[in-house]
Amino acid sequence: MRYGSAAEVRRSVCEGFRPAERISVSEGINRTLVTKDGPYSPELSPYMAQPADRLDSRKYRAVVFIGPGRCSKTATLIDGWAVRNIRYAPGDMLIVQSSQDLARYYSKQRFDKIIKASPKVRERLSTRRQDDNTYDKVFRNMVLAFGWPSGAQLSGRDFRYVAITEYDLAADDIDEEGSLFTLGSMRTQSYMSAGMTVVETSIRRVYTDAQWRPKRELPHEAPPAGGATLLYNMGTRNWLYWQCRECREFYPLNPDVHVMFGLDPIEHLANKLTADTLEDWVRHHACIACPHCGAVAKEDQRRALNKGARWVPDGCRITPDGEIIGEQRETDIDSYQLSCVAAGYAHWPKLLRDYGVAILEYQRTGLETGIKETVNLHQGRAYLPFALQGKRKAGHELQKRAEEQRQGYVPRGVRFLTASVDVQAGKRAGFVVKVLGWGPHREHWTIDRFHLRHSEREGEDGQPLLLDPAGYVEDWQRLVEKAIQRRYPLEDGSGRTMPVRVTLCDSGGEDGVTSRAYEFWRQMAREGMGHKFRLVKGANSSNAPRVEERRPDARGNKQSNSGATGDVPVLFINTDQIKDTIAADLKREEPGPGFWHFASWMPTSAFEELTAETRTAKGWVNASKRHNEELDLCVYGEAAWIALQADKINWANPPPWAREWDENPDVRRDDEEEPPPVRVLRRGNRTSGVQL
Ligand SMILES: [Zn+2]
Repeated sequence: MRYGSAAEVRRSVCEGFRPAERISVSEGINRTLVTKDGPYSPELSPYMAQPADRLDSRKYRAVVFIGPGRCSKTATLIDGWAVRNIRYAPGDMLIVQSSQDLARYYSKQRFDKIIKASPKVRERLSTRRQDDNTYDKVFRNMVLAFGWPSGAQLSGRDFRYVAITEYDLAADDIDEEGSLFTLGSMRTQSYMSAGMTVVETSIRRVYTDAQWRPKRELPHEAPPAGGATLLYNMGTRNWLYWQCRECREFYPLNPDVHVMFGLDPIEHLANKLTADTLEDWVRHHACIACPHCGAVAKEDQRRALNKGARWVPDGCRITPDGEIIGEQRETDIDSYQLSCVAAGYAHWPKLLRDYGVAILEYQRTGLETGIKETVNLHQGRAYLPFALQGKRKAGHELQKRAEEQRQGYVPRGVRFLTASVDVQAGKRAGFVVKVLGWGPHREHWTIDRFHLRHSEREGEDGQPLLLDPAGYVEDWQRLVEKAIQRRYPLEDGSGRTMPVRVTLCDSGGEDGVTSRAYEFWRQMAREGMGHKFRLVKGANSSNAPRVEERRPDARGNKQSNSGATGDVPVLFINTDQIKDTIAADLKREEPGPGFWHFASWMPTSAFEELTAETRTAKGWVNASKRHNEELDLCVYGEAAWIALQADKINWANPPPWAREWDENPDVRRDDEEEPPPVRVLRRGNRTSGVQL
């Protein structure tokens, strides 16, 4: 272990030590902290004073602070507390960053600069060179150590002060020894009530209980999202209250921007907000109304409101004279959640605009990671994925809205087609094929769905044999006529047809399927159809891109007999993210972006398969092992949309293949000549790296 000589060093530097002056922690920070940007300025974030002062409290063993990014929480509770301790209340201190890299960075970049800029800190630094290394710095009467979440890091050494930053980035369980909070706070135990642990973080979590609501009498509870939210909920749960400048009543700053800015529920915004109305929406909502008298506060009053603001624990209220009445929760954790509307560096119009832009991005692409990020990091609250919001529709409810439509015909509104193939093994061996029609902004129609069971091979009796996708590559040929090269008639009776633009096919499953699938792609490539056919596979990580093209190479892996030799492109898809998109789209009631049109000919089983899985915090699961082919086929369809980069189409001026029928060179009578290919210049980033 690197640690060791603190006591020795302490003896050598403690000469000249006088008992420290008793001042509050926040005052200690104000007097001591200088960063590379200049002296700490408490007037930008006066709300940090009380949480800082509680670090001296013997009543609490921990202070927990959650809130949006850029609200001075790290500067105050980590940097500030450290320099205050160095100057006024020496005691060994551990600062835990979320990784070893960040611990090194924090020590060598951020804290070294603070030492350099803060004369009152610098003069306490030991002058012995060996006392200043990356993970341990020795000051007069104390050692400041920098650690990261690991069982070994967090055991064996005692600290009076432990500060954990960006807590939500850490795993829930550190090396199977417990939560970071448990491990960290254990280190302060030998100091008893003089020990203190601080946790501060931006929120980076989702929660999955759509039914969750705070209790009426305890409205400050945060949603059950784990991480720091869990610690916050165990504590006193302080919210900041502003005093209305008109009626002098205090009112709570709810961390939910929908409450503070009077926004519609997000599912309404996802349907109603448009690029044209965004700026009006921002202007209209960038103000806060007092719930007592209705007086409106604008952002330019925030500084004054923050100055007179008060923290109020859950279960209590505050009178216009500033008296806090009621009984706070019995707990040894003092906890705070700051609403982004009070955060010193956040601008209301920008908060709203960023949120609106993320919602528009979701409308266009079905991807909600941008919304989650703004809700987590800018707004400072846990996020409930769309898939879990509102009431989920059962299969039979979806079937009720099926539209009168002929199987195998292309309805008006459809701009291009994709096919999805699910490879079946065992008793049901064969291919299940679904053809989807796509309109602008991801409006979907089901054009066709069928189960291919027979091969073109004949048995001794002259009858076709059952398909065997794992055994015969020639059985895969049936997909050429039935999907890859297929054209579907338009429903307008003009005799024109529309081609399937790309076919995505599952490549996993029974032994042998993968290598046959690869062989078949090679055959397609040789016949010039490689760009019209893609194999797909589920990606392993929940952070994987929604669709990413890779060329797997299993040579050198003796366990694998997939036959992958780095030549066959495979689309790796993040099925959880795509299922989130589908589940959210299925809740849309009216035709438009993301809407699913169902056809009257679709069997009841398809609707049951589509709703077979359940979303958990960790992803989608098929708990009762129901058939789920329809859901898989729809996932491949969404992946095809992304692989074709249809999410990047400007629908005011789409590429030729996505235009209306009369202007679409792919739509024609079968006896017409194929027009020469239209050259289209590709613009923008090909982020997915897909080459179709
Ligand atoms: Zn008022």
